[in-house]
Parts: sequence; C-alpha cells; structure tokens
Amino acid sequence: MNLNRVAIHLKDVMGSLKVFSTLTHDARIFVAGHRGLVGSAIVRRLKAYGFTNLVLRTRSELDLLDQAAVRDFFREQRIDFVFVCAAKVGGILHNSLHQADFIYENLMISANVIQAAALYDVKKLLYLGSSCIYPKFSPQPIPEEALLSGPLEPTNEGYAIAKIAGLKLCEKFYKQYGKCFISVMPTNMYGPNDNFHPDHSHVIPGMMRRFHQAARGGASSVTVWGTGSPRREFLYADDFAEAALTVMENYNEAEFLNVGTGEDVPIRELAFTMAQVVGFKGEIVFDSSKPDGTPRKVLDVSKVKSLGWEPRISLEVGLRLSYEWALQTDAFTCSAGARDTQSSHV
Ligand code: GDP
Repeated sequence: MNLNRVAIHLKDVMGSLKVFSTLTHDARIFVAGHRGLVGSAIVRRLKAYGFTNLVLRTRSELDLLDQAAVRDFFREQRIDFVFVCAAKVGGILHNSLHQADFIYENLMISANVIQAAALYDVKKLLYLGSSCIYPKFSPQPIPEEALLSGPLEPTNEGYAIAKIAGLKLCEKFYKQYGKCFISVMPTNMYGPNDNFHPDHSHVIPGMMRRFHQAARGGASSVTVWGTGSPRREFLYADDFAEAALTVMENYNEAEFLNVGTGEDVPIRELAFTMAQVVGFKGEIVFDSSKPDGTPRKVLDVSKVKSLGWEPRISLEVGLRLSYEWALQTDAFTCSAGARDTQSSHV
C-alpha cells in the first residue's frame, strides 16, 4: 500500500465539515495534555473544524499537579470547555513497576482540574478514563455497568483506581452541583505522538519500534512480550478525537460512555500485521516471562455508536499511518529518553 495515498485518504475519511452548536467557534477550549497522543489528536480535529480559540499549556507553563497554579489558570483564563487528556500513562511493565507514581499523579491531575473547572464555571468538561478501569474478569464485550463489579487487573491497579476516582469526581460534581462534567472510557489507543520508548510504551509503539529495528538491522528474529494470546482492542487516536467531539457536542448525561471499535485481536495477530507493515520477514518469538496482563479487554460501544459516531480507520491503515509518522519524526532513532514523555501531561 502506498503510504502517501493512505495519508490523503485519512484527510478525506475524517473530513472537516460538521455543524456545532454546543461548542461555539469563539469558545475558549482548554485541551489539557495537548502534546500527548490523545490531546494532540483532539487539537488536530478542533483545528480541522475551524476552532481557533484553543488554550494550550505545556507542563513547564502549567503544572497540573500544582493545585494553586491550576486554580489561578482557570480564574484568569475563563475557560468554556475542557478536554482532560492529561494523565501519566505507560505500558504494562512501566505501569506495574511505578504504581505509586501512577495513582498519585493521576489523582492529583484529575482532582485539581475538575475542582477548578467547577469553581470557575466551565460550561462543559470531558474527562478521559481508560478501559483498564474494568474488573479483570469482566463480561466481554464490557458494558459500562461492569464498573466496580469485581477486582481489578493487578498490573495497572494504581492507574485504574485514579481513573475511577476521576470519573466519579465528574459524576459527583454533575449530581451535587449540576455541572456538565462527563466521562468517556477509551480503549487502547495509538497514533501520532505516541510514546515509542522500548520499555515504557504500550504494545503498538513498543512492538513497532522493536520490529522496525529488527527489520533495519537484518535480525533473524524479534521478541514479543507475553504469550501472544491476550486479546486487545485498538482505536486510532483521530477516530477517538472525533468521538470526543461528538460526545462534547451531543451528550449531556452523568453516565460515562465507552469508546472503542468493539472488535479485538490476539497480540499474536497484531504481531503478524506489524511484521507486514514494517517489512520484517524473520521469526517472531514470544517471551512468556513478560506479563500478559488481562486476558481480554474489548468494550461494548453500543451507547457511543447510538450518538452517530463510528470508527473509520482500520487497524492496518492506522498502523501504516503511525509507522509513517514515526519514520518522519525520527521516533525510533532518537535516544530512548528523548521521546519518552511517559505522560501526555508534558
Ligand atoms: P495493557 O493493555 O494494559 O496490558 O497494556 P500494553 O499495551 O502494555 O500490553 C498489551 C499486551 O501486549 C500485553 O499482553 C503485553 O504483554 C503484550 N505485548 C507484546 N509486546 C509488547 C511490547 O513490546 N510492549 C508492551 N507494552 N506490551 C507488549
């Protein structure tokens, strides 16, 4: 497949025409975490639709862990709409080994932003959770009602508890104070501005880097973590961004919504597709000493689809677009730390 043609196709597929009435074009919109995978996709979509009044802050300009700074920011900036994409995020290994950092930072970011948004009259706020909030052994596909119905997957318990607290904060501010603060639970996402660190990243960028290096180095085999049998659902970040805008525009309920494709693949199959995308022709070896994590995690997305949203980028096209982005931006060749944001809160 010709990558340039895929890129043109992406523009056509995503489009730039949509009628907004909740999100007015002069509204002041704060995208927290705008340099990360998801925040940058939301900014891309907002710009494509002609929104110009975006308020964006890097971590050095506004530290979301600092409650006083966050309050000052909201008091001064008079924000109308907020997308809470800022979070400390990481793949299975990094997440499992740094659970104190993951729970603490995500609790603080959520509490500081949500409370300040309530204090300074933000009209609407969209909070991003994660599909890992659900119990390890949830019914599949996972309906929103499965929340808090059983024990969590231990490898990301700290992160999940913080994200559950964030969505509950939104729900409680909605119910007690009438704030239109709502939440979405995205499935595993990937795309431009992903974290390609060899150890800290999620499966798609981590695997892509390893396969790329194996292909370029002429290696005869490449290693994939775990047994290859866990199943995961993947959503391209721009598809998610479109869902986030649809929810911001059309959904006003306290109950959170899942966002995903509703389809999953075994990690083994992802590895074979990745080999094709990257051009790796050697052997794929599965390292069962690395954790598998939860066996299956596919979301029931019937509620969000009833708002008229559908994902448009297939896994193969999304992988090719991500690979192209990574090649163009040197995501694989820069030192492990340079692209290691570990967090969309940068
Ligand atoms: P999870 O969805 O929270 O488990 O997060 P990950 O995206 O980190 O991992 C998903 C699955 O992919 C797990 O079963 C991992 O063992 C497996 N996996 C295979 N290769 C890799 C890799 O290179 N990096 C990561 N992070 N996971 C990998």
